Amino acid sequence: MADWLAALDRGAELRAEAGLTRTLRPRAADDAVVDLAGNDYLGLAAHPAVTAAATEALSRYGLGATGSRLVRGSTDLHHALEDELADWLGVDRALVFSSGYLANLAAVRGLAQPRTLLVSDAHNHASLIDGCRISRAETLVTPHGDVAAVAAALAAAPGRPAVVVTESVFSVDGDLAPLAELHAVARRHGALLLVDDAHALGVTGPAGAGGVAAAGLAGEPDVVVTATLSKALGGAGGVVAGPAEFVRHLVETGRTFIFDTAPPPAVVAGVHAAVRLARAGDAVRAELADRVALAVRRLGAAGLSVSAPDAAVVSVTAPGPEAATAWATACRERGVAVGCFRPPSTPDGRSRLRLTVGAGVDRAAFDRALDVIVECAREVAP
Ligand code: PMP
Repeated sequence: MADWLAALDRGAELRAEAGLTRTLRPRAADDAVVDLAGNDYLGLAAHPAVTAAATEALSRYGLGATGSRLVRGSTDLHHALEDELADWLGVDRALVFSSGYLANLAAVRGLAQPRTLLVSDAHNHASLIDGCRISRAETLVTPHGDVAAVAAALAAAPGRPAVVVTESVFSVDGDLAPLAELHAVARRHGALLLVDDAHALGVTGPAGAGGVAAAGLAGEPDVVVTATLSKALGGAGGVVAGPAEFVRHLVETGRTFIFDTAPPPAVVAGVHAAVRLARAGDAVRAELADRVALAVRRLGAAGLSVSAPDAAVVSVTAPGPEAATAWATACRERGVAVGCFRPPSTPDGRSRLRLTVGAGVDRAAFDRALDVIVECAREVAP
């Protein structure tokens, strides 16, 4: 084996010894597993109106966008989706990217000038962390949800441009950032607020407009919102939404916008149909909230330690990393897919199962899945 491959192999062995091997599992289209691990919160990924819109665009535009947005990739579908997203989120302008990851990279880098201080929550997603890194701006990581620490960081950098970077609903525990307080602190110090609404868009806020809208911050001139189009909207892509001047800045300087092939028109059309359904989806959101409350009640009554979720992400504490893996594996063997988070992938070293609740899952199957999670907990960590 070549030296460089042997080195990689040793790394893989060390991870295997620590029980940290990551495995890719192919999912069949007709797989019968009850999905409490995916992010299709509103059940829109396979909604007939969504797939019909995508199919029609596929036959009219072909498979790919054939170029980057500034070259040939910007179809009327892209522009229509951006207008609708801006209207939904209550902002001047929205710009669509191929993924939420790329949207976050562009947003953080676009907000950071050479002297900027980035104040980033300790539980932020990898894409926000990478955005801070590629921006090369000084980054201060504050304890999770700690508004006082954010205020102290801003107070210690008077006169410097600063950006407070946070998720709205955090992806691991499903808790909501104190957005109104963070905004008040940021504004007091002349700083900007960047919020990744990935897990809240479609799920919380008026007409599902997300965590920023729920906090009454939609359209504020010192707030920039990002989101993925791959979770509640069931598709793929990302968005940066905010003041028109900032979006224009990204069109002209955002490397992950300029040098990336535009998202496929069929996906854009499908996502647009999903946005329309999400905006009119109060009944689905009520069903989702009902299921989240049921999960919390049922798992809590069984003696499990459950988070107090603010959207559709429910986290259940596991006794340790091995137990978390064994628990998730036992669930899967009984037909229930759950997320398994353990160190070193957890921001605080705690192991847990993550249940992402979807309104599209059959209700009786969802009910049974909760029983399976409890039964497997008893077997794995009695
Ligand atoms: N932000 C958060 C909080 C996420 O959970 C994710 C998806 N894992 C992303 C950004 C990235 O979005 P995408 O998958 O569209 O790249």
